[in-house]
Amino acid sequence: MIQTSSSPKETQHSSLSTDLIADCRLPTADSLSSSLSTQHFLSPHTKIFIAGHRGMVGSAIVRLLQAKGYHNLIVKTREELDLTNQSEVHGFLAEEKPDYIFLAAARVGGIHANNTFRADFIYENLIIETNIIHAAWKAGLNRLLFLGSSCIYPRDCPQPIREEYLLTGPLEQTNEPYAIAKIAGIKLCESYNRQYGTGYVSVMPTNLYGPNDTYDLLESHVLPALIRKAHEAKLQGEKSLTVWGTGTPKREFLYVDDMAEACIFLMESGVTEGLFNVGTGCDVTIRELAETVMDVVGFKGTLTFDTSRPDGTPRKLLDVSSMKALGWQSKTTLQNGIAKAYADFLTHKPTFQPNQT
Ligand code: GDP
Repeated sequence: MIQTSSSPKETQHSSLSTDLIADCRLPTADSLSSSLSTQHFLSPHTKIFIAGHRGMVGSAIVRLLQAKGYHNLIVKTREELDLTNQSEVHGFLAEEKPDYIFLAAARVGGIHANNTFRADFIYENLIIETNIIHAAWKAGLNRLLFLGSSCIYPRDCPQPIREEYLLTGPLEQTNEPYAIAKIAGIKLCESYNRQYGTGYVSVMPTNLYGPNDTYDLLESHVLPALIRKAHEAKLQGEKSLTVWGTGTPKREFLYVDDMAEACIFLMESGVTEGLFNVGTGCDVTIRELAETVMDVVGFKGTLTFDTSRPDGTPRKLLDVSSMKALGWQSKTTLQNGIAKAYADFLTHKPTFQPNQT
């Protein structure tokens, strides 16, 4: 059960690897062992705050933490704690003093939402991460995992994308404000680690999907959008399904339970520094994705490509060798993951805005 404990355990502090403080480079697979904490603060009673527990990633982290026996979890609804309000966040963390924070709260969305609500995406993400990270440090909390996104990397960087390609070129325009906010989050973690010796870690997930995804066609990412479109096309006996763009961009898709597993794996490994890509290491074209979704959903029509819609970045395949070197890799295949996501979609029957795209 989720509890809101008022008697926090004393937070144990770990010392940061001096190699990483002195060395400005992001840690590579070779240097990862030096960023592992030797102090183990984990037990079923470890007090863990999951910021963003109603979102797709936050809710997956809560499910897995509970399944693993962690019972001292703190979650707050937006009404209970406004993460954009600095004094509320500072007061909350100073009082609760969680042992570990998963910073999964964010304003997220697909290509249309990112490109349209540009001010909201940069402002809300900057203020949430700034409030939480600064308040965590002020409260003496040394363990935090910040969730970013693979769109932080330069639009045209070499593939697969290694962590050290960050800030080596211009960003994709459709999601630049969001990416800038997420890069700031990474730099906040890195800067507090360097100046104050905290142990804040950043993870960069590839495109995620699964339970609690957004199925509003103007807000969503491509995979949930295609699930909804294929499902509705099947029910309405339509002949064709509309895919935005040319269908040629390539994307990598990770089932959200695998993402939650990677986040908890990093917490349990005692990693206290760095930026880690989390993905499957495999990508598909948007056309191939649409065909797989049609297959799973059972829609037998054809595909139509609406080239008035943007393609976005041509490819963003993550190099996942840092996580592999630590001992983690994804489990769920794309076909199985889509089948699970579609089953969840059918069970929960999300209420839709009547938007046509
Ligand atoms: P991105 O990965 O940040 O570009 O975000 P999305 O997941 O929204 O889009 C990925 C790719 O899928 C882009 O090339 C979109 O044009 C394409 N796409 C195809 N059909 C759709 C759709 O119905 N919705 C969305 N969001 N993207 C679509």
